[in-house]
Amino acid sequence: MKIVLLGAPGSGKGTQGEKLVAHYGIPKISTGDALRAAVKEGTELGKKAKAAMDAGQLVANEIVIGIVEERLGQPDARKGFILDGFPRNTAQAEVLDGMLTRLGSPGIDRAVHLHVSDEEIVKRLLDRAIKEGRDDDKEDVIRKRIEVYNAETRPLLDYYAAQGKVVTLEGIGSVDEIFGSIVKVLG
Ligand code: ADP
Repeated sequence: MKIVLLGAPGSGKGTQGEKLVAHYGIPKISTGDALRAAVKEGTELGKKAKAAMDAGQLVANEIVIGIVEERLGQPDARKGFILDGFPRNTAQAEVLDGMLTRLGSPGIDRAVHLHVSDEEIVKRLLDRAIKEGRDDDKEDVIRKRIEVYNAETRPLLDYYAAQGKVVTLEGIGSVDEIFGSIVKVLG
């Protein structure tokens, strides 16, 4: 099962992704987590990514593509994976399709879109700022991330709709309710 999770920042992709890992026994690949780890470790890659992340902008395509390519090549990703935070623009989606073709796969099975309103997103992320203290959960950066999502990532809904792969679910409700609706569509 090869799944892409789509949705604005704070829509619950990370949380639902973790539950899908446990349910389907396939790894989750989160470019955001990988980038935060690189920043924390102070690697070259982390140093290159940090300014864009702190500003709520996208990190350069070649950086995130390198991360995903490396991870998808590992044996545990062969039978399936959950992508959280990648692809985030059309160029990344095209590269992903190319990578999967090279790996002999017909592409992703489903793009699961968690729909949550902008006001609810801002509320959740401000709340997360207090609890987790993530560097990019500040109101101006949150607004920038939503803007970048709408401009660059939202078009992926059309990209995957053209492949007949998108399913949109309401990302409001309890974590378990939302998870139940995802599993129902994935089977
Ligand atoms: P959120 O979904 O809450 O915005 P993520 O953890 O997915 O958070 O990403 C945090 C930041 O990492 C993004 O704002 C961006 O700067 C960077 N990032 C993550 N994934 C990508 C990607 N696929 N392409 C470019 N930048 C990315």
